[in-house]
Amino acid sequence: MTKTIIKLTVRDVRFPTSLEQHGSDAMHTDPDYSVAYVVIETDQGMQGYGLTFTVGRGTEIVVCAVEALSALVVGKSLEEIVSDFRGFYRLLTSDGQMRWIGPEKGVIQLATAAVLNAVWDLWARSEGKPLWKLLVEMDPRKLISCIDFRYITDALTEEEALDLLLKAQTGKQQRVDQMLKEGYPAYTTSCAWLGYSDQLLKQLCTDALNDGWTKFKVKVGADLKDDIRRCSLIRQMIGAHNTLMIDANQRWDVGEAITWVTRLAEYKPLWIEEPTSPDDILGHAAISKALAPLGIGVATGEQCHNRVMFKQFLQASALQFVQIDSCRLGSVNENLAVLLMAHKFKVPVCPHAGGVGLCELVQHLILFDYISVSAKYNNDPIIISFGYSCEMLESSVQTHQYPQGQVWKKLQ
Ligand SMILES: [Mg+2]
Repeated sequence: MTKTIIKLTVRDVRFPTSLEQHGSDAMHTDPDYSVAYVVIETDQGMQGYGLTFTVGRGTEIVVCAVEALSALVVGKSLEEIVSDFRGFYRLLTSDGQMRWIGPEKGVIQLATAAVLNAVWDLWARSEGKPLWKLLVEMDPRKLISCIDFRYITDALTEEEALDLLLKAQTGKQQRVDQMLKEGYPAYTTSCAWLGYSDQLLKQLCTDALNDGWTKFKVKVGADLKDDIRRCSLIRQMIGAHNTLMIDANQRWDVGEAITWVTRLAEYKPLWIEEPTSPDDILGHAAISKALAPLGIGVATGEQCHNRVMFKQFLQASALQFVQIDSCRLGSVNENLAVLLMAHKFKVPVCPHAGGVGLCELVQHLILFDYISVSAKYNNDPIIISFGYSCEMLESSVQTHQYPQGQVWKKLQ
């Protein structure tokens, strides 16, 4: 039976994480982890949930943008959308008036991601599958038809993408079984936010080691002496065998990034994440080249980017690790394009998560990548139910809705 979308609601939900410096880094010193939370409803009573992550102020702007897009969604049936998902993606990203405020970047990219994520969620739910399974079991031709190849055919054509997917069919079922049994490895940033004291950092690191974590990310970039102390502390605690990554969240100029990271090289970070401006592709390439002899890679992906920016990062050999992000890098449609391009350029993909909902969403994408595209991964149990795991607890949404929720009323 056809499911027509009759309603789209979007809410501004914020968690006051800045009170205890959770999520703090060299550029975002007081983040309140937030989402623009989208619910689409069909005439059959079925709902789809989507979200896009923000850090507090400005969420209201994303909410406005979602509202502006809603007319393009309401009235369409799910079947109509998924029979030409590329066309629907284009409708949202190439609307003759709306594209002027993008295209495919910034606020409008975040808003589009929330709406498209809700449609993917609805699609997976209507098939009674988690999103990763919907993707893994989808006919490769159908999957390719969800991707907009406009602007990226100089790096990856539709035919090449199909070829990559078809080649990866071998051994797929074993990988599905393996993932269901073992899960996909992840790293943690929860121990070392920039605003944490050394004592808290030690405590959280001890807890994480006890819980079995082996990969640790440390925020750096505000003060070199602090970074040396914190990295040395963490390296001592986790030992030589565990993995350390560092993240500067766009703090440095190109030259500064090279000098700074060189000073931290003795702690053997696997990568430096977001060393400089997210738009500086050639800058990332220069940093990559300079740090290669030290065995340190460059990672990025959580910026509000699109597949075209990613194409250039890959073409310029500016990255050794692609981080896929379920919102800022756009919707599932966009992430599929990036996963396939990364595979073609032989750059490993790591999930970028944290925030609100990102961990839940990105596990679907990384499972798809491992099972259906790359067949490689760089151990935690994954619990996934139907859809794209975007649904939030209604009580939590109401309590944290900004500014009328109880939590925010108390803080005013
Ligand atoms: Mg980061």
